[in-house]
Amino acid sequence: MVPDCIRAARLLPGAALRGTLRGMPRPSCPRCQRPLRHCLCALIPDLDSRTRVLILQHSSEVGHALNTARLAVLGLRNAELRVGEVFDDLPQLLAQPGYRACLLFPGEDAVALTGYAPEEQPLLLVVPDGTWRKARKLLHLNPLLAALPRVSLGAVAPSRYRLRKAPEEGALSTIEAIVAALDALEAPQGFDALLRPFDALIEGQIAAMGEEVFIRNHQR
Ligand SMILES: [Zn+2]
Repeated sequence: MVPDCIRAARLLPGAALRGTLRGMPRPSCPRCQRPLRHCLCALIPDLDSRTRVLILQHSSEVGHALNTARLAVLGLRNAELRVGEVFDDLPQLLAQPGYRACLLFPGEDAVALTGYAPEEQPLLLVVPDGTWRKARKLLHLNPLLAALPRVSLGAVAPSRYRLRKAPEEGALSTIEAIVAALDALEAPQGFDALLRPFDALIEGQIAAMGEEVFIRNHQR
């Protein structure tokens, strides 16, 4: 048996080094949270929508470099991002006067989104954000979410999101799913501008890892 204090001392150089690296974070933009050199704010639009968007992000997504939910909320006036696993104030979040809450998530009874009728009450579109497994966990831990009427996207263009392999055919990043949903609901208004910072983010990631490595690892 090696005493704990000696084990700790042996571990010190590596731990100290990691601590040093951790202690010198690259300066990042307080708004988009990208490294300052790669700030995306100039590309983020300021879009109004009839639909209100509520993104419930699983805590495990927060630190991910490709946090597209954050970009979506920054670009939409009528949108909110909440982070967690159990949302205690969900009843209040869902009871927005003037809106009908529904969940953007696959399900047998999910109704494909179509344009609003002229006098129709707009949707409070609740979007779980995380891997499929984490999104299902959110539904499991928040029964109110699972009980909401479900809506789905009709046939949509393939994802531009080539960096994180999606386990299911037709899977989109959160920001792409939101754009597709708003486009369907609010045509002829289009929400493509929301994808500008997303495209730049993807291109930046590809450039950073090197085109060759990207093709080897991510193209099938
Ligand atoms: Zn920024």
